[in-house]
Amino acid sequence: MNWITKALRFGEKIKNEIRKRSSKEEIENSDWTSCCKGPILKKELDDNLWVCSSCNKHHRINPKQRFDIIFGKNNYEIMETPIPQDDPLNWKDAKSYKDRLKNSRKKTGMSCGVLVAKTQINNINITIAASNFSFIGGSIGQAEGEAILTGIQHAIENQQPFVIFTAGGGMRMFESLIALSQMARTTLAINELKKNNLPYLVVLTDPTAGGITASYAMLGDIHFAEPGALIAFAGKRVIQGTVKEDLPADFQTSEYLEKNGFVDLIVQRKDLKNKIGSILSILLKKNSAINSLSNETSKDSRTFTKTAS
Ligand SMILES: [Zn+2]
Repeated sequence: MNWITKALRFGEKIKNEIRKRSSKEEIENSDWTSCCKGPILKKELDDNLWVCSSCNKHHRINPKQRFDIIFGKNNYEIMETPIPQDDPLNWKDAKSYKDRLKNSRKKTGMSCGVLVAKTQINNINITIAASNFSFIGGSIGQAEGEAILTGIQHAIENQQPFVIFTAGGGMRMFESLIALSQMARTTLAINELKKNNLPYLVVLTDPTAGGITASYAMLGDIHFAEPGALIAFAGKRVIQGTVKEDLPADFQTSEYLEKNGFVDLIVQRKDLKNKIGSILSILLKKNSAINSLSNETSKDSRTFTKTAS
């Protein structure tokens, strides 16, 4: 080996070191993440409900973090949900589905991608569910479908509203038709909620897409969304390629969907608790400031009529 080859190899080594990217695991275990101004300490984001104080980006959070923020730590009871047989189709591509499940369970501490719990808001008993995007992209398989159904069943049996925080890429490819059938199952379950006149609230969070948007995420009595969330069925590039037209920059965001009537209200994470509480109070005519206000107003108007006469 002459000195030129040696020098070239050394140069290549330096280049590789510079180009080397952190693995997913390293990024997850790091104290840092990134936002508009570059690196930001996770602790700093955590103190601000995982919302960037500079650009208001609502970072993704897991179901427990969400329940802690909205309903208060230790103020909800997690419910056991059935776990059907893993990997019914024996799926394998670059990795086996069994391995993917194993890794996701280890990473998230959850047995499936949807967490169901019972809690209270404004002194109203409610059943809640939330998806974890870190569990195979928040996709829905049979176990997740069962979890949502268990939540809805609990809500109906106890005559409670059902609130869901959606996230995820759609129905889980590794379960094929079994996953797709969860769209019909969840839709039918929501119909039962509605037959019982129980409020069904949806909070769309980043990202909600595919079969999730095509089923339970768009069937709410009220649709809230966190600012800047991606809410879509098919991806923007696919649609752009099909319709051969340029689409607006804010296409498929909470703001665009609110403008076009698919989202009722965009709510900042810090305000979700109040908004969910007051909407449920109004819908159920319970513990509502508006109800007591309207009583006061009617009293006032009686006084006014007396004085005037
Ligand atoms: Zn930011």
